[in-house]
Amino acid sequence: MNILVTGGLGFIGSHTVVSLYERGHQAVIIDDYSNASKEVLEKLETLIQSKIPFIEGNVTDSKLVENIFKNHQIDGVLHFAAFKAVGESVEKPIMYYENNLNATLTVAKLALEHKVKKFVFSSSCTVYGDQPSPFHEEMDLLPATNPYGATKQMSEQILKDISFAHPEFKVTLLRYFNPIGAHDSGLIGESPLGVPNNLMPYILDVALGKRPHLNVYGSDYPTLDGSGVRDYIHVMDLAEAHVAALEKSLKPVNIYNVGTGQGSSVLEVVKAFETMNDVKIPLNITARRPGDIAVSFADPAKIKNELGYQTKRDLNQMVKDAWNFAKRSNHA
Ligand code: UDP
Repeated sequence: MNILVTGGLGFIGSHTVVSLYERGHQAVIIDDYSNASKEVLEKLETLIQSKIPFIEGNVTDSKLVENIFKNHQIDGVLHFAAFKAVGESVEKPIMYYENNLNATLTVAKLALEHKVKKFVFSSSCTVYGDQPSPFHEEMDLLPATNPYGATKQMSEQILKDISFAHPEFKVTLLRYFNPIGAHDSGLIGESPLGVPNNLMPYILDVALGKRPHLNVYGSDYPTLDGSGVRDYIHVMDLAEAHVAALEKSLKPVNIYNVGTGQGSSVLEVVKAFETMNDVKIPLNITARRPGDIAVSFADPAKIKNELGYQTKRDLNQMVKDAWNFAKRSNHA
């Protein structure tokens, strides 16, 4: 299949492009570099040993996106392009709603007009809100606690409604848990611009000596060691879920959690990182981060039962691959 990948130079998008080619598919990438560096395309082309059609621009630009559908025979869409910083979304709600919702609307509308039958959307476990884990797909979604989460819930609804009206337009909503790690080549990985918000990029900055310590947000959660628990998933496992969704999703609307089903605390992630990589991560135990929940992990049964998909890589592999990428890209 020839797949349009929006946001294909970002962390998850770029790894998914590799998985697509590994499975014999091809990609057309659109990305506006808002949270990706220019070298990623070259690195992808090195990894897959082939040129990848690339369009620079924002997916809310409907003329630009329309031309992509006109100029390429597109069989499916993987729609990653979106802003994703929770804190920023609280400060700049208009920017988040405007970008993320217009992006979904524009890409879905044009995909439908051009008779594309498969559309996979990057959703998030944040849509479940603060309720007990494991999260399973049939749970009611609680109101989002920030505009970023609201854009994921609203985009899910928009896509479900489109598929309801046009059942030939098969929509798959993938609710990601916490992707970390990197491709084992160390060529691509996660390199956010500015101060990292997420745990693993922050750990990597500390390991590289760019920051003195990791702030551990909370030591009084009702968890094993008091720090927050998340379901970390290797980004290549997450990438492979997209390919499975494209190849196997059958119903008009398919909703899947993509996680391992295993929760790990912040302190467990740090310990694994230190042990696997022989690097010390100084800690500063601090107050809870507003908006964080104590525990989040997936019930991964549905995607296994329906698509035969399961994750293959464990936490040790995730922390090893993350550090391998960080060292290579920073020449540590
Ligand atoms: N976290 C932390 N220090 C950081 C960043 C994150 O202790 O610098 C914790 C956070 O409170 C949560 C977990 O790490 O328990 C994962 O946070 P992240 O922002 O990576 O993902 P989230 O699950 O919040 O989307």
